[in-house]
Amino acid sequence: MAKISINIATGSLQQEEIIVGIDLGTTNSLIAIIHPDTKQPIALKEHGSSSLVPSVIYFDEAGNVLVGEEARGHLISSPERTIFSAKRLMGKSYNDIKNNAAFFSYKIIDDNTESLVKVQVGNKFYSPVDLSSFILKELKIRAEHILKTPVNKAVITVPAYFNDAQRQATRDAGKLAGLDVLRVVNEPTAASLAYGVGLNKEEHKLIAVYDLGGGTFDISILRIAGGIFEVLSTNGDTYLGGDDFDNVIVQHWTGKSGITKEMLAADSGLAQTLRLKAEEAKKYLSANDVFEDEINGHLLSITKIEFEEIIRSFVYKTIACCGSALKDAGLKNIDIETVVMVGGSTRVPLVKESVSSFFGRPVNDTVNPDEVVALGAAIQADILSGNNKEFLLLDITPLSLGIETAGGLMDVLIPRNAKIPSKAARQYTTQVDGQADMRISVFQGERDLVKDNRKLAAFNLTNIPGMPAGLPKVEVSFLINADGILTVSAKELRSGVEQSIEVKPQYGLTDIEVEKMLLESITHAKDDISIRALTEAKTEGDQLLKTTERFLQKNASMLTQEELLQTASAMQALQLAITMEDKDLVYNKIETLNDISRPYAERIMDNAIAGAMKGKVI
Ligand code: ADP
Ligand code: MG
Repeated sequence: MAKISINIATGSLQQEEIIVGIDLGTTNSLIAIIHPDTKQPIALKEHGSSSLVPSVIYFDEAGNVLVGEEARGHLISSPERTIFSAKRLMGKSYNDIKNNAAFFSYKIIDDNTESLVKVQVGNKFYSPVDLSSFILKELKIRAEHILKTPVNKAVITVPAYFNDAQRQATRDAGKLAGLDVLRVVNEPTAASLAYGVGLNKEEHKLIAVYDLGGGTFDISILRIAGGIFEVLSTNGDTYLGGDDFDNVIVQHWTGKSGITKEMLAADSGLAQTLRLKAEEAKKYLSANDVFEDEINGHLLSITKIEFEEIIRSFVYKTIACCGSALKDAGLKNIDIETVVMVGGSTRVPLVKESVSSFFGRPVNDTVNPDEVVALGAAIQADILSGNNKEFLLLDITPLSLGIETAGGLMDVLIPRNAKIPSKAARQYTTQVDGQADMRISVFQGERDLVKDNRKLAAFNLTNIPGMPAGLPKVEVSFLINADGILTVSAKELRSGVEQSIEVKPQYGLTDIEVEKMLLESITHAKDDISIRALTEAKTEGDQLLKTTERFLQKNASMLTQEELLQTASAMQALQLAITMEDKDLVYNKIETLNDISRPYAERIMDNAIAGAMKGKVI
């Protein structure tokens, strides 16, 4: 039963506002709610139609927008006006996607390669956020029509590997569609919830979520304990899915059926028809042994055995990703207690069998794999509306986050694969006397030098009161909220001067980039370590030279002639070692200089304290 409350402004009764769960998919999107009577999650559908709304948008010449099945029909007739896979463009620049540009049959603007992509249809331009908002708006209208009540609040799911920019873009799309996005939830987390895994607070479990959709594959390893979801690792392939199965069926038929490559190249309509037939065959073979049909008298036939043969390499690839994900999580296949199947393509028997044999156990496939993510999002929405308070969802960061410190070094505050939400803070100080500004540059990546990592944001902490170098205490804190949005703040603790920034990078990293950065961090680990060690030594040496110099300026009169001479020559030797870039020598000379200055520094310090004590009234 829905909760009823009284609207004080109007005096009328009003229903507790409904929060819907939305799976905004690459291929298909859908909306789900918790049924008010049965308390079970259900996917919304108009009478007699499917719950799935193809994530396809068609713009007609007059400027009208069609979304879903009707738009999908135009993929054949007007590919340049029909947008599919908009999710792939979320938070991306043209640079990010240029290697896959051939994949998109519509026009993607590539004049400014660094900024976010736009899609051109006729003389209009659309951002991926605009495009996603059209899909969300369509879902909202459908839900309102079915539920006969306004729908203004939603939980939307995203892939676990989505970065800040992509999550933010998803939120923005929701806002643009008139939805208040209460939470952005990871798809595997939602899928687990739909299987009721983790709903019992006593439950401790390691689970794998295998998600093979239309164009993407994701494997996520989760740990669920005490009602807390924690993503241990993710892996996958952003260009592998059911579409590949369709393509190899098309290839299988090309030539053999009398339909030639040349015919397909000359006739885009024929190419699309053949592709749709291939998808039909694939789905049919999930439950039958032979498919037979024809186009214009050309016979199309394929057996289940032939189909399995031509998709085997794709399936193997997904299994290899499962192996990598387990390795990253530090687990073995036998450690996984539950395997959840997500995505329409997991209906293919070979996929199911392969996953099951890899993990050595039967897979969970009782919930409709097309709907399972949306159903989980509805459960999450229910938790947010206060019906299930004890839950907390934890996710992970794909790459380490840190700031630049002296010498261009990366100082990691939140390591890769840290749980989200996450918090970390560390103290830093100034390098120069009277330094009033401190530049905080935020980076993402695994390398020791920031120049090899990706810059996310930078800001200045200004108005630091004049103090000698090393005295200010600047605390830099990183906070990643439950949606994966990072806020960086810096505070000078002595004065309370404070500054913060929400990090919304202009565009995100592709998976390939993340992979590349990780790979580089491994191959370069050795030289990174030696460069880091040298940079640290040089910075420390420089620092010591500066403080010693300052000390001498103030206190030279209190030093003996011999102390002055010894100090000067030790400083010279240290300076030389720094110039020679010899780490061990630098440390050696630092020690020598410290040994020389320690006795007189202590002596002068004691005097100063004694002097200060005299004047103080206790
Ligand atoms: P996404 O999450 O990428 O939006 P979906 O989970 O909706 O994608 O999966 C869509 C894919 O599932 C399509 O490639 C579709 O052809 C495939 N699919 C749907 N039903 C079946 C089936 N019965 N057998 C094989 N593949 C199927
Ligand atoms: Mg999906």
